[in-house]
Amino acid sequence: MEECIFCRIAQKKIPCKMIYETDNAMAFLDINPGSSGHTLVIPKKHYDTIDIMPEDEVIDLFKVAIKVMKAVDKVIKPDGINLFQNNKLAAGQIVNHTHIHIFPRFRGDKIDFRWGRVPLDNEDMDRIAELIRGGLE
Ligand code: AMP
Ligand code: ZN
Repeated sequence: MEECIFCRIAQKKIPCKMIYETDNAMAFLDINPGSSGHTLVIPKKHYDTIDIMPEDEVIDLFKVAIKVMKAVDKVIKPDGINLFQNNKLAAGQIVNHTHIHIFPRFRGDKIDFRWGRVPLDNEDMDRIAELIRGGLE
């Protein structure tokens, strides 16, 4: 995965505004921040999406995310923080090396993660819940 930008950051081949790192994860400022303190947390190993990561590595990744989130909260003092991550292009993933966004929010900012409601009735919801339960591994 030599061409992956986040692999190159993890390998220190290109610079970043580093916040914190462990053996397995790294947190650095988003180069195109949506708000002050917008930070990314990545596993140092390449995984396209989070669902293919081993569970213990996901746990490590989220431990780093929460640690950094608390630091952002303490020093940036936002009014709220969104923690999110995108999987695949349709979900807004541009960099195909899994990452968590730590996104500070401020009252009155113009960012809106809300969505319109799709018309699903009670039976649809029962069917969908059953379908997903059947997919659990
Ligand atoms: P996503 O849409 O979830 O894939 O988000 C990818 C994020 O990576 C975007 O917010 C970009 O601004 C950010 N990004 C891309 N290249 C770099 C880089 N070299 N250093 C830091 N952040 C980056
Ligand atoms: Zn990568």
